[in-house]
Amino acid sequence: MANADRSEILFEDKKPPLNRAQATIEANRCLYCADAPCIKACPTAIDIPEFIRKISTGNVSGSARTIFSSNILGMSCARVCPVEVLCVGACVYNVMGVEPIQIGKLQRYSTDMAFEKGWSFFTAGEESGKSVALVGAGPASLACAHELRVLGHAVTLYDKRPVSGGLNVTGVAPYKLKVDDAESEWAWVSKIGGISVATGIEVGKDLSWADLQRKHQAVFLGFGLGEDARLMVPGEELSGIEGAVAFIERMKLSLVSLEGVKRALVIGGGNTALDAVRELKGLGIADVALVYRGSEAGMSGYQHEWAHAKIECCRAHWHVQPLGFEGAGRVSGVVVTSLDENKRPIHGSEHVLPADLVLLAIGQAKLGHLVEALPGVKVEHGRVLHDGSGRTGAPGVFAGGDCANGGKEVVNAAAEGKAAAHAIDTYLRGTHG
Ligand code: SF4
Repeated sequence: MANADRSEILFEDKKPPLNRAQATIEANRCLYCADAPCIKACPTAIDIPEFIRKISTGNVSGSARTIFSSNILGMSCARVCPVEVLCVGACVYNVMGVEPIQIGKLQRYSTDMAFEKGWSFFTAGEESGKSVALVGAGPASLACAHELRVLGHAVTLYDKRPVSGGLNVTGVAPYKLKVDDAESEWAWVSKIGGISVATGIEVGKDLSWADLQRKHQAVFLGFGLGEDARLMVPGEELSGIEGAVAFIERMKLSLVSLEGVKRALVIGGGNTALDAVRELKGLGIADVALVYRGSEAGMSGYQHEWAHAKIECCRAHWHVQPLGFEGAGRVSGVVVTSLDENKRPIHGSEHVLPADLVLLAIGQAKLGHLVEALPGVKVEHGRVLHDGSGRTGAPGVFAGGDCANGGKEVVNAAAEGKAAAHAIDTYLRGTHG
């Protein structure tokens, strides 16, 4: 994929990397806490003081090994993790009123160098003769597949889409992680060997679940989430109204034309909505605003991301609910009603917010129904249930990532994928050993 053919290249890195001197100075500030709260705040439990200590002594290779041993997706997580509410937010310096350690940037320093220098830390285990199918080729499946290779099992990832990598390739804000970075991560992780990928195959349609289970001794469900949810209000079929996740994917994989778009609205108050307003602003749209039914303090998106969006001059309409869209062929505005503090419509408050482009960021479809044909797999509110270690309760079927957690961070997918790999290994060595 050529860089010039993608709109995402317009974005600069919003968290530029540290150089060697900066990394060393920052690493030397760490207190190397016993019982470190930063480790507890990391879903993959990276030994943070240990990798920082290694940077301070110039052992960057050892530092990278420490990170990747806990989280094989440590490079992308260094860029995309909401560190403000995870490790950095837990750093003891916060309670002292001192600037916390820039853990994400230090992690990026070590993992970037590992990629640049081509360091490899892992080899495949002795072949077990067992094979695992991973449904979905996103972060959860990649983390699971790598760990399964370390444990000696053969793996094949199946994805209905033509590109592998899942949301790390198509969904992450480009000022955090670009397609090239995600593709290099895939290539670097795959250096362990034996990770087969079958793209363009939809399990349950092109290949039945029964055939999949005949071919493989275990199955990992890591198929993520589905399409953007719709509001189901009048006028939604007008052009210029699009799902935010679909738009972000288009912008990351191709050139999008925003000619004539001066005012854009993003409906929603979660992290996808926040990414979308910042991306639209970055693409040069003069007036970009959120449309949210709750308050600024009550939005589900991270407050630190909203603070950045405000610095970039994004606006918001709080306490409003869309009733429909106006326009002739193309959208020209969103009809909204104001809501009172109990989120009840205020009679007579209907008005129109003008817009040339509207993105819907009100959630994505849960895909639990896809596994109805798998006996014993339980689904609740569209999410695949498991025991916390990936076991679904159906023999040989495991799950993790967004399809099970409903949509969390890449670091959660990495943690759940790895945990499931160990549950799969126990299963294969026990019942099939
Ligand atoms: Fe270092 Fe902060 Fe973690 Fe303590 S809590 S080990 S100071 S990063």
